[in-house]
Amino acid sequence: MLNKTLKVVETFASIQGESTHAGRLCFFIRLAGCNLACSYCDTVYARGEDCGTLRTIAELLDEVAASKIKLVEITGGEPALQANTVPLAEALLGNGYEVLMETNGSVRLDLFPPELKKIIDVKLPSSEMHEANDIVNYRFLREGDELKFVAGSVEDLEYAYSWIKRWGLDTLGVPLLFSAVFGKIEPAEIVEWLLEKKIPNSRMQLQMHKFIWHPDKRGV
Ligand code: SF4
Repeated sequence: MLNKTLKVVETFASIQGESTHAGRLCFFIRLAGCNLACSYCDTVYARGEDCGTLRTIAELLDEVAASKIKLVEITGGEPALQANTVPLAEALLGNGYEVLMETNGSVRLDLFPPELKKIIDVKLPSSEMHEANDIVNYRFLREGDELKFVAGSVEDLEYAYSWIKRWGLDTLGVPLLFSAVFGKIEPAEIVEWLLEKKIPNSRMQLQMHKFIWHPDKRGV
């Protein structure tokens, strides 16, 4: 299993900028390729056909160990597209790491181990990819998983509300994270909306790394 390969765009140590893990030290593995083309994508460099280099799971485990960081995030692009992402997650978990995977929610996640903490992006209309949301993935949600709604407008927020109610996402016990498309809607507007709606398990988040470093900076 350790000689299986994945196409990797970059690896780096930083802080976790989002989710309930925001602020924690984290080692990131950014995998190549994505099946979507969101209007606000800030990792276009991870989407192209020819991006990334092949690395074995063993090499990635060595890098993670050298970082001495116990929290690992597998991200992309869309990390669930590569068949060897499942054995990578299994290998990391088997070596005692806490593992997050940030995914766009359009790729079926049933083969991933339940201990993997999935952070599923629910795409909203301003992404222009909202028709790709795969509702079957909500069946695989477990404690430790999170749902993320990145809103660029009030219309996005209203769409999110309808989606949450339609699929009962506020009854699953997982955090519902709301954040702003950077520069498109004021975070205060989202907070006011959350105060009005009072959705169970909802919480506001800022993309912490975009305030610490320049919003376009890579690898943080
Ligand atoms: S899913 Fe993520 S990586 Fe893919 S286009 Fe959308 S924002 Fe970019």
